[in-house]
Amino acid sequence: MGIKENLDHIKNTFKDHDCLLVAVSKTKPIGAIQEAYEAGIRDFGENKVQELAEKAPQLPKDIRWHMIGHLQRNKVKYIASFVHLIHGVDSLRLLNQINKEGEKINRVIPCLLQMHIAMEESKFGLDENEVEEIIWGEAIRKMDFIQVRGLMGMATNTENKKTIQREFRSLKVLFEKIKSTELPKQVKMEILSMGMSGDYAVALEEGSNMVRIGSAIFGAGNYEQ
Ligand SMILES: *Cc1c(COP(=O)(O)O)cnc(C)c1O
Repeated sequence: MGIKENLDHIKNTFKDHDCLLVAVSKTKPIGAIQEAYEAGIRDFGENKVQELAEKAPQLPKDIRWHMIGHLQRNKVKYIASFVHLIHGVDSLRLLNQINKEGEKINRVIPCLLQMHIAMEESKFGLDENEVEEIIWGEAIRKMDFIQVRGLMGMATNTENKKTIQREFRSLKVLFEKIKSTELPKQVKMEILSMGMSGDYAVALEEGSNMVRIGSAIFGAGNYEQ
């Protein structure tokens, strides 16, 4: 199936949900991104700073670029001026660096805090205590150039639906818990980014409002040289 057909299929499973689709275009060529753009997609996700910074100038200006991968502090400067949303903020130090880069160019940069919900050790992210320390700590109140807009998480890579369900549910519970409290002006709990090609149906059932889908749109191929 082609990109357009894949997108039609995915959008069809979305129709009962208020959810934004981010098309994950990492490793995919410009032509494939252009095809998805022509099919109506405006939100694209990349996981490497260099690839994102190279692709963005070659594509239409109204694309909203999402940085979904692990972000190193020394690379924030390359995307600060144009990135639409940074999904993978997993430390106060990184948030602080994003704030600094935002200040240099007088731009408030939208971010999500990445939570560690999977069983795998390898996945990045904060635990519940760490996220609460960031949100209710003193440091964030002095940051005028970041806006935390919600949470992001990745479930365990497994066929076991119960495990995925439990992990997404725990993230949704935390999201609602934080949302119900009084928050500093730097934090708004609006976006819950969870779900990828293999598990987005479960994520939608569990209340995701932003999914990041790559291979189900573009195929599993890797076009990198
Ligand atoms: C690659 C990636 C995705 C998309 O994965 P697919 O399985 O291809 O849909 C989503 N989120 C993150 C953080 C990724 O790195």
